[in-house]
Amino acid sequence: MRTLVKGGTVITASGTVVADVLVDGERITALAAPGTDVADGWPADVGKVVNAAGKYVLPGGIDVHTHMEMPFGGTFSADTFETGTRAAAWGGTTTIVDFAVQAKGTSLLATLDRWHAKADGNCAIDYGFHMIVSDVNDTTLKEMGSCIDAGVNSFKMFMAYPGVFYATDGEILLAMLKAAETGATIMMHAENGIAIDQLVARALAEGRTDPVQHGLTRPPELEGEATSRAITLAKVTGAPVYIVHLSSAPALDAVTQSRDAGQNVFAETCPQYLYLSLDDLARPGFEGAKYVASPPLRPKEHQASLWRGLRTNDLSVVSTDHCPFCFAEQKEMGRGDFAKIPNGMPGVEHRMDLLHQGVVTGELSLARWVEVASTTPARMFGLYPRKGTIAPGADADIVVYDPRAQQTLSARTHHMNVDYSAYEGFEITGKVDTVLSRGRVVIEAGKYLGTAGHGRFLKRELSQYLR
Ligand SMILES: [Zn+2]
Repeated sequence: MRTLVKGGTVITASGTVVADVLVDGERITALAAPGTDVADGWPADVGKVVNAAGKYVLPGGIDVHTHMEMPFGGTFSADTFETGTRAAAWGGTTTIVDFAVQAKGTSLLATLDRWHAKADGNCAIDYGFHMIVSDVNDTTLKEMGSCIDAGVNSFKMFMAYPGVFYATDGEILLAMLKAAETGATIMMHAENGIAIDQLVARALAEGRTDPVQHGLTRPPELEGEATSRAITLAKVTGAPVYIVHLSSAPALDAVTQSRDAGQNVFAETCPQYLYLSLDDLARPGFEGAKYVASPPLRPKEHQASLWRGLRTNDLSVVSTDHCPFCFAEQKEMGRGDFAKIPNGMPGVEHRMDLLHQGVVTGELSLARWVEVASTTPARMFGLYPRKGTIAPGADADIVVYDPRAQQTLSARTHHMNVDYSAYEGFEITGKVDTVLSRGRVVIEAGKYLGTAGHGRFLKRELSQYLR
């Protein structure tokens, strides 16, 4: 089955060009300038024409940080692989990389099997896994090699959450040595959890229990300190490090400095840190619980630094850290004790739109939008050029985006399985029009046409920034 995406403005990380895009089966086979003999010859033998005139044609979004049905604090994030990947497709994201979560005392390979069982047959779009390592020991370190062979070569560790995911500096060092030896990437949640826990305990003892305390007890300096420490450990071991969900100016300074010195340090940020702030955590009543995630939303003045970091490439990727918990029943577990509010926010559906808003306001160029949302994520996690670009041979993950459409984000209209929107009432210029996942139309004319199980597991290569 051949599909022709006709007359759109194709946007890739290297710029924009008006072109017709020919898809054969699951792949893009050719691009041609509209009106040329080559392009005019195509419609005769295609099954379907998608009219993209006046619209953008983008490589599908790649969200490398999601948590579908993730266990946290006695509950699970509210999107399953089925509902979460469907919502992603609605928003123009055609690949996610989710996290398998090792529970203490269990093996990495058994963990990977469990996550395969959750995702297999349920995803609307393609997916890969990172592995969360919460128990560093001889077995785990050996199993890292087997995970790499299985296409899972990025390992997330935590300097936060003592007693749950927390790893000591010594454990981080051992995992980083293994990463240096194998070419794997260590992903780091960089917040000083030991110090934070003391601030949390003190706040609770003093009767400060509102959601805003979640932000006030996790100051930006403790993200900056942990980021520096992670970078130092990476330097000592020779491992690359990727800082996840970077949220603050001190952390960005640490990343910038190390990159200027030539170290293999990378970082991502998320839309919530670009658009939301501590003011949202401080909303009256218990409303702030909707905005509890870690690291916390920061005072507004950090946002300008993050946009600048995106322009200078000190921030290379924008992911969502999508980890939705319903306000009713889930977030409410923390009424009267902010430390019991499940950490996480919904967002997988709106990343492309929110970043396009950055294009509209002049923070990002069109090419940079595509680069941080698709191309760099693909290269960083070993999926390029199969994913992350519009080129002959690439998977036909294609988003036709209408840059002039207007929409208002709301829980009433979103497709994520969660009862609130962190962006309720946000006015967005631009909207996804049509989405192809490996050549198959999954979103068209306001309808979802995909199926659970269309999405396939992606065995990833090592980071393409390191070789
Ligand atoms: Zn996360």
